[in-house]
Amino acid sequence: MKETSMPILNPHLAGFECVRCAARFPVADYPEGCPVCLDAGYPASVVPFYDADLPKLGPSVERHGMARFGARLPYSDFNTLGEGDTPLVSLPRLADELGLESLHAKLESANPTGSHKDRMSAQFVARAKHRGAPAVIAASSGNAGASLAAYAALADIPCTIVTTRSMTPAWRRAIDMTGAEIVYAEDSMQRWEIVRQKVREEGYATATNYLDPPVGSDPYGVEGYKTLGYELAQDSRATEADVVVVPTSRGDLLWGIYRGLSEALAMGLCRRMPSLLVAEPFPRIQRVLEGEDYRSHFKGANKLASIGGATVTYQALEALRRGFGSAVAVSEADTLSDQKALARNGLYLELSAVAGVTALRALVKRSDKSIRRAIFVATSHGYKES
Ligand SMILES: [Zn+2]
Repeated sequence: MKETSMPILNPHLAGFECVRCAARFPVADYPEGCPVCLDAGYPASVVPFYDADLPKLGPSVERHGMARFGARLPYSDFNTLGEGDTPLVSLPRLADELGLESLHAKLESANPTGSHKDRMSAQFVARAKHRGAPAVIAASSGNAGASLAAYAALADIPCTIVTTRSMTPAWRRAIDMTGAEIVYAEDSMQRWEIVRQKVREEGYATATNYLDPPVGSDPYGVEGYKTLGYELAQDSRATEADVVVVPTSRGDLLWGIYRGLSEALAMGLCRRMPSLLVAEPFPRIQRVLEGEDYRSHFKGANKLASIGGATVTYQALEALRRGFGSAVAVSEADTLSDQKALARNGLYLELSAVAGVTALRALVKRSDKSIRRAIFVATSHGYKES
């Protein structure tokens, strides 16, 4: 059997920095985030930093998709299924209906396994393979599990997905077909317990958090999301937008988009960056922005599975603080109605992705005149939901 190629660590990667206390650490693995903040009782993610010779973004003629940004990622060479360079689609009728000048969907559903998670999986699996992890694991009932299973199969690494009985048959089959093992837990908290055990006792590499209060997902993987920010920065329709709406739970994607846009701004690739708006299924980040402790549990339930959960992470708050963003909670009834509205414009999306449009509609209704041109991140299509 032919060996898959070994990923190449970026020679400019210099270490990891805490998003909360800015302490710096060597190149290693940090599934529990910053050790200093964890000891103090304030879990927080770490993010990669690079030396001063990190290449600037330039046109890449030989590579396509996320691979063309390899020189600025933790793994400059990695196994790819062609993720990235997703289309930005104009929705003029829906823009009209919402009272906006323009509305574009960043179609992350066009990624190989149908969601934005592929950007994370590509970098995360590269790390796991390079450091010789015996297997990769994730707690997921949807996009993250299907994506990780696919990239693990590509890289020829064993994969375990810890889920609950509520996983839909379509998801189950997508994961099962790759050869990944599926383990069932009673609830999402027990999922974290199983992952924690596999990481601490067997050295598995985990793509997802297992702490409560949580940290963001694996920092190598989260860095993959900044390519979405780069792609937006290279498209004038995005840089001229007033706002980018991101469906958010623990803020991995939000952080990556913030980071990509802000790096592009610092490199002079764009003159301005749109503000960030979080769409969430019930007030969590919104409540923390209003003063509540980010380590609390926030009660609320609805069908927006991809952005569900009772917790908030420090990285989500930090992305909003630095990117001058805000958060809007949307109701399940309103997202169900917008799911239909989007489908009638040709885009059948998962409910969590639809939340972006619902958040925009709510803001315009409140006569927020600062929003004329908007982008929303269509994180996944609706085909895998039931
Ligand atoms: Zn720290």
